[in-house]
Amino acid sequence: MNSSNPKRVIAIKLLVMLSIILLFVSCGGKKHPMEDKVTVVVTIYPLYDVAREVGGDKVQVTCLLPPGASPHTYFPTPDDSLALERAELVLCVGEGLDDWLFPMLKGGSGEEVPVVKMMDLVELQPAVRSGIGEEQKADEGNMNREGKYDPHVWLDVGNMIVLAQEVCRRLSELDEEHSADYEENAEQYIGELRKLDNEFVDATEKFANKKFVAFHSSMTYLAKRYGLSQEAVIEVSPGIEPDPHYLADLINLVKENDIGAVLAEPQFNFQLAKTVSSESGIPLVIVDPIGDPNNPQRDTYIKNMQANLQELEGVLGEKRD
Ligand SMILES: [Zn+2]
Repeated sequence: MNSSNPKRVIAIKLLVMLSIILLFVSCGGKKHPMEDKVTVVVTIYPLYDVAREVGGDKVQVTCLLPPGASPHTYFPTPDDSLALERAELVLCVGEGLDDWLFPMLKGGSGEEVPVVKMMDLVELQPAVRSGIGEEQKADEGNMNREGKYDPHVWLDVGNMIVLAQEVCRRLSELDEEHSADYEENAEQYIGELRKLDNEFVDATEKFANKKFVAFHSSMTYLAKRYGLSQEAVIEVSPGIEPDPHYLADLINLVKENDIGAVLAEPQFNFQLAKTVSSESGIPLVIVDPIGDPNNPQRDTYIKNMQANLQELEGVLGEKRD
């Protein structure tokens, strides 16, 4: 190669400098650069999965909540803020679940990033207040940290379909050139979600017992969709242990109400659920509301939900003597 021509070398250098300047100019604008992937930042793993499924290879998705952590007890890191500075689209659940996201959105470059809040898209269920005895209704006058509504909306497969449609719409807006890809991916994924929904309907219809006690209110929407009954929860405020009186009442309730399962979750210590299960003689089942990228049985939303169904079916599906 002959690179000795000085005019040519200068021309190449100028061209390189010009493209660098153009790159900075284009990054400064709001428009998504055509050759780049769309940068999506999400709070929890199920949302990561939707963005990945609908966006395919046209998106770069970052999930803020690390595997094994609970969104209820998570404290964000400086890396989370950095990830958000690069975001072109943010997906979150909403109040009572990933509130820690919102202060970080106010800082940064000052440019407004579009945020999809799943709780804004779907019908909400009231927050679980006590879980024992009384009606579980939203208390207008008492807006505590958990908010007025239960935030676990993604455990309803129908709500995930709504989210997939919204993500498709937002990505198509940001990156018009690939809108046909997004639509095709969304259609495919929604088909798989419908299949999952049918699997749940078919299996839960045959459950011999439909009543369970959850670790926290994570199964509110799943129970509602499939006619199951979340009779009570062990931790009303996730991450805060109940007092001994509450626990004693709960164990009595489990014993006296023909409840079929006590649920534990991998994001929280199993000990409390184990105690309720052993004291009442009702089987313990592990369900995971979030999923786990490091567990091949639970590394997508659909696989995680199927694993949850299998666990529930194992104890609620059979008649016990
Ligand atoms: Zn939760």
